[in-house]
Amino acid sequence: MKRILITGGAGFIGSHLAEKLLNDGNDIICLDNFFTGSKDNIRHLIGNKKFELVRHDVIKEYLAEVDEIYNLACPASPIHYQYNPIKTIKTCVIGTINMLGLAKRCNASILQASTSEIYGNPKVHPQVEEYWGNVNPIGIRSCYDEGKRCAETLMMDYYRQHNLKIRIARIFNTYGPRMALNDGRVVSNFIVQALKNEPITVYGDGSQTRSFCYVSDLTDGLIKLMNNKNNFIGPVNLGNPEEYTILDFAKLIIDLTNSKSDIIFKQLPQDDPIQREPDISLAKKELNWTPSTAVKDGLLLTIGYFDNLLKKSK
Ligand code: NAD
Ligand code: UDP
Repeated sequence: MKRILITGGAGFIGSHLAEKLLNDGNDIICLDNFFTGSKDNIRHLIGNKKFELVRHDVIKEYLAEVDEIYNLACPASPIHYQYNPIKTIKTCVIGTINMLGLAKRCNASILQASTSEIYGNPKVHPQVEEYWGNVNPIGIRSCYDEGKRCAETLMMDYYRQHNLKIRIARIFNTYGPRMALNDGRVVSNFIVQALKNEPITVYGDGSQTRSFCYVSDLTDGLIKLMNNKNNFIGPVNLGNPEEYTILDFAKLIIDLTNSKSDIIFKQLPQDDPIQREPDISLAKKELNWTPSTAVKDGLLLTIGYFDNLLKKSK
């Protein structure tokens, strides 16, 4: 049994991770500023003696005695991380420095939730960890992309300089229950639009691609990375290599929801990556990890979740 700090623990991925680690018998400190997270995501855990909820912002120092830190605090949806870009980069950089400082003081292991965005608009496909990426440093996505790249740099420098026990996971598009209705990312937008029989908004011509990983597969990967016995630190891609064009993805959601929605086309946001698919050979080799949920199965579970949420909010 360990005492585990999860920053961003009231968010979409963080809440699933908290639940899983709690069920494994650990003590959990869930730290969140509730920018995009919600108490609803963790309401069922409040009251459990091993679960502690702390309202705190990672850009301020935080002190506690912990064995492990999962550093997830950061808005992940483009509309949310672009809402206050200076805050986003502060969260990535100052937040990570604070968590690294805490890990150093406690001699704790720390896992950084990095992202496929560090590859930018990739010229290597599928993306392998050796690829350094193609990122615009001055665009509207840079607060997130460069913030997350800097966080990886900080992790590696603390590792080299202080011999910290670090782990870096490069997470590819992940979806599932507890995504917020107003999240703005493609999975939640398309499902909610389809369930309401409203037009599905495809940005650009829909030829850009993404690969979608179900949340329980992802949290399994994060835990395997944290606990691997070979001291494998990454960076390692975690994602599901099932790749879709966004247009095909819209058609799939219409099919799975039996929706009457039409597809409409809207302007492609600036610097929207053209293609994204993880090469997960390294995760398979080092962590014996591979996603087990087929995209259609994961989507049906997610559709069920949003259907309930919409009925409740009526
Ligand atoms: P999310 O927005 O649901 O969760 C982020 C959580 O962090 C929220 O609860 C939010 O309130 C909290 N937070 C934000 N800024 C904070 C701050 N300054 N201090 C304290 N808490 C703060 O997003 P998510 O999809 O659960 O993403 C979790 C992590 O995984 C993020 O770091 C994200 O960059 C990373 N990630 C996610 C995906 C994905 O597809 N979901 C892909 C790549 C990387
Ligand atoms: N997208 C879309 N319609 C939407 C939301 C997103 O066509 O309503 C596209 C977006 O332009 C991008 C892809 O879907 O090409 C994934 O977007 P998301 O915001 O989910 O995540 P990203 O991978 O871009 O960070």
